[in-house]
Amino acid sequence: MSGIWNIPIPRNEPVLTYAPGSPERAALKAALGTVGSRQADIPAVIAGREVRTGATHDVVSPHCHGRVLAKTNQADRQTIEAAVNTAVKAQKEWGRWRFEDRAAVFLRAAELLATTHRQLLNAATMLGQSKTAFQAEIDSACELIDFLRFNVHYAERIYREQPDSSPGVWNRMDHRPLEGFVYAITPFNFTAIGGNLPTAPALMGNAVVWKPAASAMLSNWYFYKLLEEAGLPAGVINFLPGNAVEVSETLLADPRLAGIHFTGSTAVFQSLWKTVAANLERYAGYPRIVGETGGKDFILAHASADVDALAVGIVRGAYEYQGQKCSAASRTYIPDTLWPAVRDRVVGMIEDIRMGDVADFRNFMGAVIDRPAFTRLRDHLEAAKRDPGVTVLAGGGTDDSIGFFVQPTLLQVDNPGYRLMCEEIFGPVLTAYVYPEGRWKETLTLVDQTSPYALTGAVFARDRRAITEADQALRHAAGNYYINDKPTGAVVGQQPFGGARASGTNDKAGSILNLLRWVSPRSIKETLNPPKDYRYPYMQAE
Ligand code: NAD
Repeated sequence: MSGIWNIPIPRNEPVLTYAPGSPERAALKAALGTVGSRQADIPAVIAGREVRTGATHDVVSPHCHGRVLAKTNQADRQTIEAAVNTAVKAQKEWGRWRFEDRAAVFLRAAELLATTHRQLLNAATMLGQSKTAFQAEIDSACELIDFLRFNVHYAERIYREQPDSSPGVWNRMDHRPLEGFVYAITPFNFTAIGGNLPTAPALMGNAVVWKPAASAMLSNWYFYKLLEEAGLPAGVINFLPGNAVEVSETLLADPRLAGIHFTGSTAVFQSLWKTVAANLERYAGYPRIVGETGGKDFILAHASADVDALAVGIVRGAYEYQGQKCSAASRTYIPDTLWPAVRDRVVGMIEDIRMGDVADFRNFMGAVIDRPAFTRLRDHLEAAKRDPGVTVLAGGGTDDSIGFFVQPTLLQVDNPGYRLMCEEIFGPVLTAYVYPEGRWKETLTLVDQTSPYALTGAVFARDRRAITEADQALRHAAGNYYINDKPTGAVVGQQPFGGARASGTNDKAGSILNLLRWVSPRSIKETLNPPKDYRYPYMQAE
């Protein structure tokens, strides 16, 4: 077959409503029944072969921790080594495939996810990660479908990027995959990120070892099976559940490590980078390191802000998915003149929020992901309650009798440097600092300088001068910046996502910038009629 083929233009996948009576609601409820009633037996998959080591780890529902959804076989040393060898071998053929054939695998995966597999993935995300129907739909369905389709479109743009030629010369760019393997390490909080981190490098012709997060294993496993069904050749992405430290020890010591695609906490990313630095002389090349990490995301209100819009931005931005989005608002700055009205509206909405089993669609919140998260949040809340400088305005309670539940919490602090204004704690806890209205400019500096992170942030104001001042003062305080909107909910193709400072390398997942990290361009110059005489014209006699 010959031809220069155009890639279908991607459009964002529409978000289904799940309103009562809708067909998607019935289909999702049926899928929740099926996924919840069986126990998956999750293996590692190396070269297309399922490996069950027998050393298993339970996957439980966060909102009902007595319910075991799956058993995951933890990879042993031999399986980990086999994963690397397989990836390096498989890459040699995969990297030579036509781009269109690679693209077709991921376009088909997107199509399966948008249709036949949509509710399976949503149900697994709801049960395994405690997302509501809506939070699952925007993650495991829409965002992941968008990643798959938009990445193909961006890859096409990269391949079309070609140099100029001159008379007698034809110049080309070969956007090669990296030599070796890419190690994808994914977080629990977005099924879409779990799917994107291994598939983005694979689309560009790389082969991958994918280590999913233990607490997102169920949805990640079903996505891996979907990739197989979409025609992904064996060995191109190797699925490797296991102990993170053991897996990393082997993979980071391998001379063929070509890249790391990571999303997760800042501490883990820094430890990976340090290990790479210590091993630098072993590697065949310089591994690409892409990491999107933590945040301490802010909502800043100016005295001209619309109070109702601000209060809704705060509640949705801070508490959806239990505050476990890297973009979730966790600190807010409100002028004293607006505070009583904002506080009362926010507290009123918090009191209205229902929390519980996500299969009950009336709930706005589920449970936090696991016991370590629950304990960490409970300890922070207990310390806050004991601190005379902190007032608990709403929530503050925890209950782990059935699931890992933490109430949506609003705290007010006297000290803008209090630790809950600076550290990422990753839960449904928003800390507010009330500033004197006249100290707007000082507050801009405070927002910029308080935390080491720079992931997302929002400003609410109607006064255009205030919007402009905030825009300039906070230019480096957030990689995703919102004006009169909540700081969460970035859409692929519309608000490419990622932050700088301690929040990561800001390579913007689901954009052309990210895919550029997974190619190593080769410049090719072809001279069409090479010179036959070594002498240049200037050398001729007058
Ligand atoms: P995490 O750092 O605990 O885990 C992330 C991944 O790293 C998991 O697969 C885990 O098993 C693995 N891991 C843990 N310890 C490791 C080690 N020593 N060596 C190698 N791998 C290791 O993060 P998480 O709890 O899954 O996710 C929450 C974090 O992710 C938050 O900090 C959040 O802000 C961040 N996050 C950031 C973004 C972003 O785009 N910036 C998006 C989502 C999540």
